[in-house]
Amino acid sequence: MKKALETYKQLLTQKTLIYILLPVLYIASFLLVNAAIDTSSSITSNDSTILESKEVSSTPVTLSEQYPPVTGERTVAVILVNFLDDQDEPGTPEKTLEIMSEVSDYFEEVSYGAVHLSTDVYGWWTLPFDTSRCTEQGSHLVGLDIKKEAIRRGVNLSPYNHVIFVFNKRQGSWCKGGLGTVMGGQGMVWLTWEDTYAGEKTSFDSLYGISRIVHEIGHNLGLKHANRLDCGETTFGDSCTTIGYGDFYDAMGTLSQYRASHFNAFQKMKLGWISDAQDIENRIQTITEDGEYFIDTYETPGGIKALRFPRGPGIKGGTDYYYIEYRQPIGWDTELKEGTHTATNGVLVHLGNDTIDNSSRLLDMQPTNTTGHELLQRNTFKDTETGVEIQLLDTSTKGATVRVRLAE
Ligand SMILES: [Zn+2]
Repeated sequence: MKKALETYKQLLTQKTLIYILLPVLYIASFLLVNAAIDTSSSITSNDSTILESKEVSSTPVTLSEQYPPVTGERTVAVILVNFLDDQDEPGTPEKTLEIMSEVSDYFEEVSYGAVHLSTDVYGWWTLPFDTSRCTEQGSHLVGLDIKKEAIRRGVNLSPYNHVIFVFNKRQGSWCKGGLGTVMGGQGMVWLTWEDTYAGEKTSFDSLYGISRIVHEIGHNLGLKHANRLDCGETTFGDSCTTIGYGDFYDAMGTLSQYRASHFNAFQKMKLGWISDAQDIENRIQTITEDGEYFIDTYETPGGIKALRFPRGPGIKGGTDYYYIEYRQPIGWDTELKEGTHTATNGVLVHLGNDTIDNSSRLLDMQPTNTTGHELLQRNTFKDTETGVEIQLLDTSTKGATVRVRLAE
């Protein structure tokens, strides 16, 4: 175990080269144990089990203290690859750059200008083996093969913040899209140009493709999935189930809506894009008194982006907080007014624990209605266990006013 820990530290400090030099099986176990591997191509994936084990070991230090703010330029290498027995090139490097420019636009908007991407595209590279290697080795190790191929071609991937491997299509059961590492150091993402999701053909150069890239880079930045609390016919009760990926209004939640919407306030606070510091431009206001509060529209820079206040101690430590945000059909949130899951007719309410990064849960403020989850105007949510009340008083295109009663 000590040796494993030392190797882990080496990996964090020496990054890429060590990955390639280490014995293959050792790396595989490292990836599975220490990195939360995402498999968002399947909603029934088991990566929540890995996340759960990390939760228990969380120290009672707030997330803002655990993670430095994510700011500035993030460098990205996108590598397009195919195989000796399948040399199809379903897209072009130029199109890839276009898509990554959209992804950069996404991050710039959702971070209120704090983050943008700078992307280099490589490929198509034909890897020196057949697609059968995908079944033999799995995506993770084929990723290391691609890093070896980069060295052979004289391309230095070490300086990049993110390396995105794009397979030409889903190859067997392993080389497929929807994987991203959640760890320090260089983030790695595995995607496919052509794939099938929920029976529909999907493509890298589509809104769905963008939502998937955003999701996996979100993991690289340290985000976990945005979940939903399902309590049947009530918003909050004794028998609730946490639905992994279940937040319809967060790019770290369900992907079935084919949209890349803003990360919720719990997530943005973790990344340092909003803060409860007094003098900051994009604030999350921590409420300490009962009263009426105004929230600015969430998508545009400046002002109060969200409200938060404690619900009480979390089951696994830390403090559970309520988060309130007012989402409007602007920019990357434009599509939130469409489809079966709307969010723009009121305020969204989430729960999250200030020390546990997998604890983001959307609450359903319209539990008997399948089309929306927002708290509607003049409606009041009551948390009978704690005495918390949230009433939506008024909305406009500029913001919303809510009346909040804190926990007793
Ligand atoms: Zn994921």
